[in-house]
Amino acid sequence: MDYLPLFFKLTEQEVLLVGGGNVALRKARLLCRSGALVTVVSHKVCDELQDLLDENRGNAVIGEYHSALLEGKMLVIAATDDNALNERVHYDAIERNIPVNVVDSPKLCTFVFPAIVDRSPVVIGISSGGSAPVLARLLRARLETWIPKSYGKLASIANHFRDQVKSKFSTINHRRVFWENVLQGQIAEKVFAGRPDDAVKMIEEKLAHEDPEHQVGEVYLVGGGPGDPELLTFKALRLMQQADVVLYDALVSEAVLDLCRRDADLIFVGKQRDNHAVPQEGINELLVKHAQMGKRVVRLKGGDPFIFGRGGEELQTLKAHNIPFQVVPGITAASACSTFAGIPLTHRNYAQSVKFVTGQLKNRTTDLNFEELVHPNQTLVFYMGLHTLPQLSAKMIEHGKPGSTPAAIVSRGTSADQKVLTGTLETLPELQQQAQLPAPALIIVGEVVELHNNLSWFGEEVLAQNLTPVKAEP
Ligand code: SAH
Repeated sequence: MDYLPLFFKLTEQEVLLVGGGNVALRKARLLCRSGALVTVVSHKVCDELQDLLDENRGNAVIGEYHSALLEGKMLVIAATDDNALNERVHYDAIERNIPVNVVDSPKLCTFVFPAIVDRSPVVIGISSGGSAPVLARLLRARLETWIPKSYGKLASIANHFRDQVKSKFSTINHRRVFWENVLQGQIAEKVFAGRPDDAVKMIEEKLAHEDPEHQVGEVYLVGGGPGDPELLTFKALRLMQQADVVLYDALVSEAVLDLCRRDADLIFVGKQRDNHAVPQEGINELLVKHAQMGKRVVRLKGGDPFIFGRGGEELQTLKAHNIPFQVVPGITAASACSTFAGIPLTHRNYAQSVKFVTGQLKNRTTDLNFEELVHPNQTLVFYMGLHTLPQLSAKMIEHGKPGSTPAAIVSRGTSADQKVLTGTLETLPELQQQAQLPAPALIIVGEVVELHNNLSWFGEEVLAQNLTPVKAEP
């Protein structure tokens, strides 16, 4: 280890910054954020830097640097483009045992500025010891996306309860278990969900409770997206990695499932067409049962849980049993398949609105309001419509939608074996009869489908001319 990471308490401490340009400004911002009293020395100080100093009780010495300015300083930073001057500052500081940083000159530094992830009071510093600052910045970008913005708030709340926890639990071990539960369970999640007051109440209750280990768990209803794991949200991933139990659907891809916590129990509750693995009531009961055992339950669904996902029903059951829950949206099939097929769902020239429609007709085509569906200038997206495509197409034509309206099937959207078949409202059922594209598949109807010819960028195309016509019935 070439550098020992330390955190300086700079509040009310004097710091000297040599240089008055943009680089100096960036350093000054950091120093002011940590409460330091900054003196800048330079022949010229840019306006922004001057304002910053004025707002933070700093001062600017306009003129030549001289070593007397180092008197009483805790740190010194040289941010000029004058190498000789930078070197002088370095040697003057060394002579007086003052830590010194010369920007972009690792050899002249006795300390370096790390890349910073600021969730004050939690602060993370990343350093490559001056050897590859860009690498440190890339790492920082990763941490920024991974650590919730409200981590700082969580730390402040924890700090508030420190003494109480210490007096309630006499051993370090008990305290550790208590904090581990608070900082990664439902209480932390309350803070991240913008409900810090609820979190405070829950900690108070937990402290007052006779047996803090015996608690009701929580359910996270998570949208797992269309299949490609890169399309998960950060929040979905974080909750999946905390789960004790995961109840997942047939539409959840293996790649997504792989990202759940290694020790989690994975329970398949998928419903395949005509083959209900676990009936809906059974799923509701399972959710309640596991949550009542104090577990963190992830209910993982394909796409978005609130779009043809029966997510609402599951939440109603949880609500009736007083089980806390959170919902994480996912990228729904309509959005994913259309983007991956290069078919914008709206377009100022072709479609001003888009409708998500279920193609599952419970044996009655009267379930759908076809009068409304045949309006021009809208895009229709049918979920679960692969098996009813012939009826859907016939009914829409019967109600006046032109048979020539462009239409497409996107099969297994976003996966490596995505296939797109295009035709018209009239021809698509027969083309599919020949192509036999597998489920899950989405049907898109509307002028926007034409844009696919131009904007297609992913996966395989199924060309109508390559299909073998189905033999006519004798
Ligand atoms: N909640 C899900 C939809 C569940 S209904 C969502 O928001 O996406 C199931 C239907 O979604 C399937 O019949 C199919 O029409 C569609 N679907 C889901 N994933 C798909 C995919 N990867 N490719 C094509 N269609 C998909």
